[in-house]
Order: sequence, then C-alpha cells, then structure tokens
Amino acid sequence: PPQVEPDPSKKTLLILGSGWGSVSLLKKLDTENYNVVVISPRNYFLFTPLLPSCTTGTIEHRSIMEPIRTILRQKRGSVKYYEAEATSIDYERKLVRVRDESEVRGVAVETDVPYDMLVIGVGAENATFGIPGVREHSCFLKEIGDAQRIRKRIMDCVETAAFKDQPPEEIDRLLHMVVVGGGPTGVEFAGELQDFFEEDIRKLIPEISDRFRVTLIEALPNVLPMFSKQLIEYTESTFKEEKIDIKTKTMVKKVTDKTVEAEMAGPDGKKEKVVFPYGLLVWATGNAVRPLVKDLMSRIPAQKESRRGLAVNEYLVVQGTRDVWAVGDCAVAGYAPTAQVASQEGNFLARLFNNMAKTEALEEKIRELSSSLNIKPGNTAEVSREIEEYERQLRRIKDIKPFHYSHQGSLAYIGSEKAVADISWFNGNLASGGRLTFLFWRSAYLSMCFSTRNRLLVINDWLKSKLFGRDVSRE
Ligand code: FAD
Ligand code: NAD
Repeated sequence: PPQVEPDPSKKTLLILGSGWGSVSLLKKLDTENYNVVVISPRNYFLFTPLLPSCTTGTIEHRSIMEPIRTILRQKRGSVKYYEAEATSIDYERKLVRVRDESEVRGVAVETDVPYDMLVIGVGAENATFGIPGVREHSCFLKEIGDAQRIRKRIMDCVETAAFKDQPPEEIDRLLHMVVVGGGPTGVEFAGELQDFFEEDIRKLIPEISDRFRVTLIEALPNVLPMFSKQLIEYTESTFKEEKIDIKTKTMVKKVTDKTVEAEMAGPDGKKEKVVFPYGLLVWATGNAVRPLVKDLMSRIPAQKESRRGLAVNEYLVVQGTRDVWAVGDCAVAGYAPTAQVASQEGNFLARLFNNMAKTEALEEKIRELSSSLNIKPGNTAEVSREIEEYERQLRRIKDIKPFHYSHQGSLAYIGSEKAVADISWFNGNLASGGRLTFLFWRSAYLSMCFSTRNRLLVINDWLKSKLFGRDVSRE
C-alpha cells in the first residue's frame, strides 16, 4: 500500500523500541486510529529465546530476526519508522529527542519528535554492577552482535588452542569457557556450548577434545532460581553429566583479559579467593536500567523510590506522567523481566488504545446527535434511541479491566537435547525435565516465532545442523 501521510485530526502515537513489548503492541494495534511513529536503533524484531542457539550456529542469526519494515508494511494508516536512538524524553513538553547513531549519517542527525501519546519499550541493558574489567573483556548475550561475537570467539579460542607448539597450560586457558550468571541466559548458553563441543568440535579437532571445559559461576546457592527445586536439581545433575562445572555461592569481583577473580563461600561460610583463567568469558548477570530511562526517572518526582525501571500503574501508565506508558523490561509492574510479560503488556496496550479510539469516535457521535437534537426537534424519539444505543456501546468499551499477567510457565534448554519446564496446567503446576520436554521446548518456541518465514528458517537450521553439523568457519 502507498505511504499514507499523517492525518492532522488524529493523535500522534510515538512508540520507542522494536522489541517484545513494542512489536506486540504494533501487531495488535489498529494503526488507522493514530499517526504512528516508531523509533528504534534496531530495525528488526529479535526473537530472544533462540538467541543462545545462535552463539554456536545451531541457528543462523537472520532466522530469528524480522525486519521492522516488513512488520509495518502490513499496517494501515500513517505508520512511520525512524532508525534512531531516543536520547531524552521531555514529558512536560511532549517531545522526544532522537539521534541517528548509525555508521552512515546524513545532514540531519538529531531532532525532536513531538507526540500526543508515548509508549516506552526500550528494554534494559546488561548489568555489570560496576565490576572492574567486565565491559572491556567479556561478551554479553543480549543482541545479535553479541551472539556473533561469541561464535567467532569460540572458534578463535579453539583454533588458537590447536596452533602448533601451543603450551599445555595455554591450551587449558584457551579452552576454558567461563559463564557468569546462573539465570536462564547463562544456563542455556552453557548447554548450547557443551552441545557444540560434543557434537562438532570433538569430531573435527579430536586432539584438543579432552581439554575443553565449561564453568558456570553463580553468586547464589543454586542456578535457575525461578524454577522449582526439583528442576534445579535436575539441571544441576544434567550439567554434571555434561561435565559443566557449576560454581555456586561464588561472586565474581574482578575480570582481567585472561582471568576471572571471584570470592567463593566454603561449606563453613568462609570466603576464599579463586582465580579462573579463561579463553571466552560470557557475562549474563541480568538487567540494568538504560541511561534514557534513568534520566527520565530522575526528572519525575513520583519515580523517586523506583530503582529497577519506570514504575507504572495497573494500566501501564508511567507514574507521575500523563499520556506516557511503559512496557517490558524498562517498566516495573511487579513482574519478571521476560518476553512473556513484555508481549502481554504490549497486547494490553493495543487493546487499550483501540478502545480509546473507539470511545472517542462514539463520544463524538453522541455529541453530534445531541446537538442535532437541540437544533431541530423533529424525530426526537429516534435520535434519542440512537444516542442511548451509542451510550450503551460506550459503557461496554470504557469498562477496560486493568492489566493482568497470566503466567504460562517457564522453559529453558539445558543441553544434550534436554529442557526443563514449569508449566501452568489446569490451575496447577507441571514440572518436567528431559528429552520429551526438549521436544515440547522446540515446538513451543517454534510456535512463538514471529512469522512463518522465521519458523521455516529455524526448522531448516535445526535440520541443517543435525544433518551436516554446525558451520565452524570463523567469519
Ligand atoms: P527488548 O526486546 O530488549 O527491546 C528493546 C528495544 O528497544 C530494542 O529494539 C532496542 O533496540 C530498543 N532501544 C534500546 N534503546 C533505545 C533507545 N534509546 N531509543 C529507542 N529504542 C531503543 N524471556 C522469556 O519470556 N522467555 C525466554 O525464553 C527468554 N529468553 C531470553 C534469552 C536471552 C538470551 C535473553 C537476553 C533474554 C531472554 N528473555 C526471555 C527475556 C526477553 O528477551 C526480554 O524480557 C524481552 O526482550 C523484553 O522485551 P522489551 O520489549 O522490554 O525489550
Ligand atoms: P537473571 O537476572 O535471571 O540471572 C542472573 C544471575 O546472575 C543471578 O542468578 C545472579 O545471582 C547472578 N549474578 C549476579 N552477579 C553475579 C556475580 N558478580 N557473580 C556471579 N553471579 C552473579 O539474568 P538472565 O539469565 O540474563 O535473565 C534475564 C531475564 O530474562 C530474566 O527475567 C529471565 O527470566 C529472562 N530469560 C528467560 C529465559 C527463559 O525463559 N528460557 C531465558 C533467558 C532469559
């Protein structure tokens, strides 16, 4: 369809971000009701649940990306996208400052975008807790670029370890893959890494195969705190079989280019300093608030007590503002920062905004009919009946229930074709782990993929890596 220009009689709805929250909103939003503007530095949606599989080439990264332009093409009305980063939000003047941070810049680099309604869905950044050396030396696992960096680094470590005359202790260091953070990101990555090694590297470079090691470091007494005790134990015992070394009650304090320094609590509670030499270090210790969000929070008095993101009310309105909503990892609504929550919040806002537009249209009709009633009192009864009908519709539409999160369960891949699942099942809970759960994990994630194109690409990647092995060429 041809590009529709903004309609001055409609409100401008500005959406920041192209992740789970914002894209779920866009998908369900009736865009004809608003002049929609989307701003994000990332011109695609990323299906994060399968990102750990991209670090080893089980899945190719483009299979889990969906261009925002393709998504927007299917929408009606005026929908514009700008590839830029929001750098500050003036909630009083209703303006967002945006900046083109891409490599190619034109004459226009920075500008203000006005809005009537704003949705903030910018997600979170990686937490480092200010631990020295983390930013400089480790890889994160949040974006496509991170997965590509890890994939390259694994092969670099392997090939360097296999280099002629490499001393044994250097081989051990290079082939020691350290993962910090025993949340689902760290656990899934450790599992994928071990699979890659067992299924491919071991066959291709057998001479170094006995020296490859994966260590997972977690500050708390156990990994995967959001799963039930039974599944935590199952994960820990599976990791033991897979020879992934879990170091719990171990808090990383410092990182250098070749070592991780940590404090480990012994059984007597006594703390001991340990040093792990590494070849690859993946840092997966959860979320931190983005500077854009931190800056906005510092300027809203009602956000003074909030630490982990924008405090929102039950309709996801940012506390202390008007016409500003927040979804996903940047919002604090009392739920975990997951895709499941972000997408339900996005869907909720789509329903809310669709209803608001209908409400306004009905109110306008009622106003028109009422004034016509005052001007020419001819068929009063018929017009009054019409007004009553509109008012009934209005009451029904206006009765929007607050946001309610419905937890479908937690799922995580743990390597060697096993997964763990805590699923809500007929008002109860079902905990399961193993190969059958793995098949369930695969089919669940496949069904959640953004598009049929993504689904086919992911199936193709799974088949390809099963039949021919993962591609180990270092790009
Ligand atoms: P995101 O999806 O992170 O999107 C944020 C968007 O904002 C991005 O498009 C970004 O480019 C954009 N942005 C950033 N800064 C700006 C700015 N200044 N201006 C404008 N736009 C900006 N959750 C699950 O429920 N199940 C899982 O299996 C699961 N697996 C995961 C695996 C990994 C490896 C990771 C990292 C996370 C996983 N999660 C999972 C968590 C889930 O991905 C997040 O909770 C979810 O992405 C949050 O959605 P969001 O829209 O808030 O943020
Ligand atoms: P997380 O916050 O869930 O876990 C981070 C872990 O790092 C914590 O257990 C913490 O104790 C540990 N940690 C922090 N500092 C440390 C230190 N200095 N030394 C050692 N350990 C330290 O983070 P995540 O795994 O990145 O997940 C982020 C969010 O995304 C969560 O809400 C999670 O549920 C979601 N997610 C879900 C899935 C899934 O459902 N399969 C997968 C990935 C992420």
